[in-house]
Amino acid sequence: RKMLADEKDADLSSRAPVVTILGHVDHGKTTLLDAIRHTQVAEGEAGGITQHIGAYQVEHNGREITFLDTPGHAAFTAMRARGAQGADIVVLVVAVNDGVMPQTKEAINHARAAKVPIIVALNKIDRPDANPEFVKKQLGELGLVPDEWDGDTIMVPVSAKQKIGIEDLLEAILLVADSTSIRANPAGKVVGTVIEAEIDRSKGVMTTLLVQNGTLQAGDAIVAGMAGGKIRAMFDFRGKRIRKAGPSTPVQIMGLSDVPNAGDIFEVVANEKEVRAIVEERKQKEKDRKGSIKRASLEELFANFQSGTTQELKLIVKADVQGSLEPITNSLDDLNKQQSIKVSILHAETGNITESDIMLAAASDAVVIGFNVDADAAARRLAETEEVSVRVYNIIYRLIEDIEKALKGMLEPEYVEKTIGEAEILAIFQVSKLGAIAGCKVLTGEIRRNAKVHILRGEETVYSGELQSLKHGKDDVREVRKGFECGMGFKNFKDMQVGDRIICYVMEKSNVL
Ligand code: GDP
Repeated sequence: RKMLADEKDADLSSRAPVVTILGHVDHGKTTLLDAIRHTQVAEGEAGGITQHIGAYQVEHNGREITFLDTPGHAAFTAMRARGAQGADIVVLVVAVNDGVMPQTKEAINHARAAKVPIIVALNKIDRPDANPEFVKKQLGELGLVPDEWDGDTIMVPVSAKQKIGIEDLLEAILLVADSTSIRANPAGKVVGTVIEAEIDRSKGVMTTLLVQNGTLQAGDAIVAGMAGGKIRAMFDFRGKRIRKAGPSTPVQIMGLSDVPNAGDIFEVVANEKEVRAIVEERKQKEKDRKGSIKRASLEELFANFQSGTTQELKLIVKADVQGSLEPITNSLDDLNKQQSIKVSILHAETGNITESDIMLAAASDAVVIGFNVDADAAARRLAETEEVSVRVYNIIYRLIEDIEKALKGMLEPEYVEKTIGEAEILAIFQVSKLGAIAGCKVLTGEIRRNAKVHILRGEETVYSGELQSLKHGKDDVREVRKGFECGMGFKNFKDMQVGDRIICYVMEKSNVL
């Protein structure tokens, strides 16, 4: 995954590692975050850190570590789905009286898909029924082999409740941080990620940001997803007012006009005017996108795979029972052997398709395959908005056959755009009643009145929609062929320019479903 900002190597210096805590429910994520926070609370600072925002920093051996205080792989993956790489290191909490549970596996797969190193916190070692050796073996079977068994995963026994082993955990984090290059340019382009945002009745929109490159300053104009504004006040995680914040620093800011999404990327721009222009443009794009066809379809991913744009076909497999999950994953592995191509199963588990599966797919450009399972309503909605492909089967060989076909490039799209003609804009006319009309010459094929069009300016698509009018001379016509000139008006679009190219297309249903 590329860095948020393009920086020259020489300008980079090391920054604090950003850590997120994942694990099964009730294994102690919240308690551990509290315990870590308390290592820093000075004597007499009653009640601990006063202001609570979605991230905090601690110091260990004179070095800082940033913790994202939003535990759970859903939040972690939601960030990634929006293009942000939130955390540098994942601390996976596993309660040693309970062992590996479904969400432990999910968390491992989410961290792996993000290519983020994992440190295991073997929690609840104070419990009489603790069995850390058994849990290590379980984790080993999932490919997390403890370093004492010649593996490369650091496992730290802790008790979040009794605050045992916390310093060791911080030590381990710094060790892993040193072995990966965690750097940024404090003087570079200011970018980062939105951790969370909310509306405060008296203060307006309060946004927690993680600065990832550059130095954010009070008074800066920023754009965050589809929100933006000028920073009226900035606070550190303790609620102390600050004026500057460098890489890996979590801050809370006041001054955005809208509430951004967690995981949105923010950047500093020149001024508020630019903020408005960028936000406006993004909103328009979003509107256009919603009206267009589903882009990241299964077929398209397969097509990308075929054309070499994508080197691997990533799948998330959910099945009703273990007895069907195993033959499916085995067959997929066999496909891998036969064809010397790469099918990666990011996550395979029993149970219905959930939001977490969809987010993982969205963040990883993967496809969700279900066998005898359903997608719950929330997952369905999310799949729609995140444009994730979900395919559900009830016959194993059909599933395998489809994947096989896909790998051979034989799986046809359900719908494809078929270009039927191209034209170039030679002049723009203002016509009373109709407004701006493009005077065009048809270069190839034909332009049809009832077909759809894209308008391209260089490489960029400036409009996708429909024709409002098509005229040849003074007459309304149904089609104009190659070599002829015509006048075109577009629905809800008047900003065409001379030199723009018009692609006329129809949607074609394919022969395979
Ligand atoms: P989360 O759902 O992963 O955030 O888990 P919590 O932090 O809410 O912890 C779940 C339960 O486990 C709570 O009742 C905690 O008090 C308890 N717990 C957490 N850590 C420990 C520990 O180290 N030892 C023991 N005995 N209990 C713990």
